[in-house]
Amino acid sequence: MATIDRDLLTARIRDIPDFPKPGIVFKDVTPLLADPEAFAHAIEALADPYGDLGVDKVVGIEARGFILAAPVALACGAGFVPARKAGKLPSSRRGVSYELEYGSETVELHDDAFAPGDRVLIVDDVLATGGTAAATVELVEALGGQVVGLAFLIELGFLDGAQRIAGHRHTSLLTF
Ligand code: AMP
Repeated sequence: MATIDRDLLTARIRDIPDFPKPGIVFKDVTPLLADPEAFAHAIEALADPYGDLGVDKVVGIEARGFILAAPVALACGAGFVPARKAGKLPSSRRGVSYELEYGSETVELHDDAFAPGDRVLIVDDVLATGGTAAATVELVEALGGQVVGLAFLIELGFLDGAQRIAGHRHTSLLTF
């Protein structure tokens, strides 16, 4: 694809200081999602590095990851798999707990989310400390999936989340 239009994307991301708690600057992507040009560009740019890698499943992390991962899955010719918070998935499931930038959390996947050896792309809006991404990688691999990469809209570089997923390819459209 053409180069990533970082100005277009950056202009549609809003910093909300002290949300959801003091000291956190929340990256609000709702203006980007509301703008069809920026939204379409983000999806194209997220999918582009992985489109030729034979991705079978795209995992989206609850909740904003769902919004990005579903159209990325279609762009890659892959299926969509939701990684959900504890107790939300209806069928037999497995979970991994981890620390967040603001609290602790558990991510779960259905036991039968993948066929053995499925090639999996993980998508989320923000890579912060990397705890969520690392837990999701662990879970995908425990369930027989093969992680081919992780795609983020935003990476908070100062939190060093990339270290937690070292050894896996990852791409971020914007790094702050
Ligand atoms: P982490 O596990 O610390 O990498 O956090 C990543 C998850 O928390 C993602 O699912 C993000 O949606 C959310 N998150 C963490 N920090 C922020 C932030 N500053 N702004 C928006 N979302 C965030």
